[in-house]
Amino acid sequence: MAREIQSPPLHPINTRPSKASQAIAGPPPKAKIRWDVLTIFAGTSLISLTLVPWWGFAYGYEPLSILLAVIFLLWNGLSITAGYHRLWSHKSYTAKWPVRLLFALGGALSVQNSIKEWCSGHRRHHQFTDDPQRDPYAATRGFWYSHIGWMIRDYRSGKTNYANIKDLERDALVNWQHKHYAILSLSTNIALPLIFGLTWGDPWGALLLAGFLRLVICHHTTFFINSLAHLWGTQPYSDATTARDNPVIAFFTYGEGYHNYHHRFQWDYRNGIKWYHFDPTKWLIKFLHLSGLAGSLKKVEQAKISISLAEMQLKRAKEGVKRFYAFDAFDEFRHMTRTDVLALLEKEYASLIETIADWSRIRQEWVQIRKDALQEGWEKHEIRRKLREIETRLRAHQRDWSTLTAHFA
Ligand SMILES: [Zn+2]
Ligand SMILES: [Zn+2]
Repeated sequence: MAREIQSPPLHPINTRPSKASQAIAGPPPKAKIRWDVLTIFAGTSLISLTLVPWWGFAYGYEPLSILLAVIFLLWNGLSITAGYHRLWSHKSYTAKWPVRLLFALGGALSVQNSIKEWCSGHRRHHQFTDDPQRDPYAATRGFWYSHIGWMIRDYRSGKTNYANIKDLERDALVNWQHKHYAILSLSTNIALPLIFGLTWGDPWGALLLAGFLRLVICHHTTFFINSLAHLWGTQPYSDATTARDNPVIAFFTYGEGYHNYHHRFQWDYRNGIKWYHFDPTKWLIKFLHLSGLAGSLKKVEQAKISISLAEMQLKRAKEGVKRFYAFDAFDEFRHMTRTDVLALLEKEYASLIETIADWSRIRQEWVQIRKDALQEGWEKHEIRRKLREIETRLRAHQRDWSTLTAHFA
């Protein structure tokens, strides 16, 4: 009869090594280096820093090779931001198959792994933001780690687990890209620039610019979203994570620099929500929508965004009030105690939230009445008048609130 033999567990439960035994054994071994990844990063960087300028000085580049590099740069970058990120990771809109195919190929061109790998890691990043053990690129582990270090070693936090991408596993195009990722990457990065370059007699120039240099630029601009956008900038919507809004980073990352907003409202197809925010990814999605190539664009209600902003202003002001010893510096608060000021802030906050709710209700009415073609003209006119009135009141209220909270923040 077969006998079941139980071997002792390798790491018995509840027996943590003592500090003394740790000192004898030394620090835990570092995660193994991923030589394949390191070779790609180091190799492409080295070529871009040496061969690219040398070839330029020695032979020059054809203008068409430069143009190809720019086109590849945009194709590559927007496939990551509009495709991998906002379409597949967050499902903030839907897109027709030609768009998805273009993004899938552009994603292979980006050499940032397949859609499945990328999205699974990114969904973990949102679920466990900043957790050093579970966020694959936790900014709390420092700039280098969140920028590139997390890919160079085989860290436990980076282990693949497709449990969070069941929806993507049902997508035939996503599976096809995953299966043929290596060949797609090689052909888009090497073969395609060579073929294009051959048509205008500059295959090596095209390969150096549109292949190597473009890839290095694209790698680091994307990586800035995980590193810099978690370290440098403001936190207007939430300070629950390290994510920050930064227009400078947005400029280099196709709009992804409005990262504080993105972490607060991750399923919104926009990252920069104001019309003047530089968010080319948002513009592209909107353009695809107008062309009939994309649909179901998800957008957070403005009232929710305004409440989020007010909440953060209240939080900062209350923290500030607790730090102040006295309010002598401000005439209007000179005779108030700390408790009085805190009560005033709460009262003003509640009043602002009420105005936001009123505005939201009248706006809903306006949207509804506009759809109803049978409504009398005077009724429409009346609602529009009420909406304008409340909008003016809300703007004034928000201004007053910002002034009040700025005293203490
Ligand atoms: Zn992030
Ligand atoms: Zn995201």
